[in-house]
Amino acid sequence: MRSELLASFENIRDNNLMVLKEAKERGTKVVGIYCTYGPREPVLAIGAIPVGLCGTRQEPIAAAESELPANLCPLIKSSYGFAITDTCPYFHFSDLIIGETTCDGKKKMFELMQRFKPVHVMHLPQSPYRQAALELWYKEMVRLKETLEETFNSEITEPALREAIHVVNEGNRALKQLFDLNRRKPAVISGVELVKVAWQLGFHSDRWERVSMLERLVSELEYLAEHGYATGEPLAPRILLTGTPVGVGSEKVVALVEECGGIVVAMENCGGYKTVGLTIDEKDPRDPLWLLAEKYLRIPCAVMTPNWERLQLIKEMARDFQVDGVIDLTWQACHTYNVESFWIARTVKDELGLPYLHLETDYSDSDRESLRVRIEAFLEVVKAARMV
Ligand code: SF4
Ligand code: SF4
Repeated sequence: MRSELLASFENIRDNNLMVLKEAKERGTKVVGIYCTYGPREPVLAIGAIPVGLCGTRQEPIAAAESELPANLCPLIKSSYGFAITDTCPYFHFSDLIIGETTCDGKKKMFELMQRFKPVHVMHLPQSPYRQAALELWYKEMVRLKETLEETFNSEITEPALREAIHVVNEGNRALKQLFDLNRRKPAVISGVELVKVAWQLGFHSDRWERVSMLERLVSELEYLAEHGYATGEPLAPRILLTGTPVGVGSEKVVALVEECGGIVVAMENCGGYKTVGLTIDEKDPRDPLWLLAEKYLRIPCAVMTPNWERLQLIKEMARDFQVDGVIDLTWQACHTYNVESFWIARTVKDELGLPYLHLETDYSDSDRESLRVRIEAFLEVVKAARMV
């Protein structure tokens, strides 16, 4: 017995293109966003459609390398390659791009991108704990609101912003419910399927429809689980994936874990669990832009220093999802995640007492077989550790 609803997530990106094209023809504006620090709520509040942009495929990287250094992370090169080759229809339809100064490569890439698309770059302070950082990030929320209002010649009202906060909260709640299904043992949904669902949803332009699709999927999977359905082998090693983001086209490590007999029960990364727990108290009467600043500054990305919340999240996830081992994925040339792997290794090995594997790779298939050997060996270590 398989989930039939899962199939309806397969083609959201393709199906939504026509919806987006028709919306554009009616005059609706589209705003492209690359990173989870890019706030969706002000975009929704002005009546535009926020879309997550592609940066997860190998194909456009060669074109990107004609202008960017080759030793840059594949996510940045893929994003830029889609833009300069005009092969991502979502980028093509975007009237405005929201960029951010997360890491050095990305912020400098946005300078080049501004040559052929309007890009509003938000200046992200890199400490989640300082009051001055929060105040600066609030001012960046105000500046974004002003840019949206000027660009689209409209006004963002407080009720519209609060309604946007509500729908984004609901989306996070529903996605978290889906992820939380894998707290069950055995797991209900594979890591490859989780990547697909989360990635495809980023392209859906109807926020409420996204919520109801997720709710229907969760109900169906709960029903199946209660009638004995599970994914993978019952004793498959349960792996937590942390590190840099993955999506369709860059899910190589997730796929290899599952081809080798493990199951990625949870992902701490962006697109996974990193942001689904970040909601705004809708009864909080303070300025909604301030509430947004507080929420987005709490994202535990490795660009923050220090980034202790990520360690805390990993500990909670390891417990809640009953994981047997942790794989920490770093895209090549991503210095922030690469250096932070020191703290992740310590936390996983010393505090949680779990096997840990750090992998550094890119989107190409050139190292697929060597990765397979390392992952197979790691899963053997995980199985042996379970028996101790
Ligand atoms: S890992 Fe950090 S920089 Fe990359 S998308 Fe996530 S929040 Fe943005
Ligand atoms: S993966 Fe690392 S280098 Fe690449 S965009 Fe994200 S933070 Fe920057």
